Amino acid sequence: MSKAYTYACRDCEGMEDCPGEVSAATQDEVWKLMELHAVIAHGEDPSSWDNETREYLGTLIKPK
Ligand SMILES: [Zn+2]
Repeated sequence: MSKAYTYACRDCEGMEDCPGEVSAATQDEVWKLMELHAVIAHGEDPSSWDNETREYLGTLIKPK
């Protein structure tokens, strides 16, 4: 079985109603997809995320 990581947007505080989920083989790829999702679905600017935010989001990436 190949490894996979997943991030569910609803696990993020304040995003409980978002159905968005991304999965990929590596955490790096999940980060890219998360950032893309944040831009498209939430109009966020990932370059403005501080270390604390990234640390928090990192805890939401789970092995599948
Ligand atoms: Zn979302």
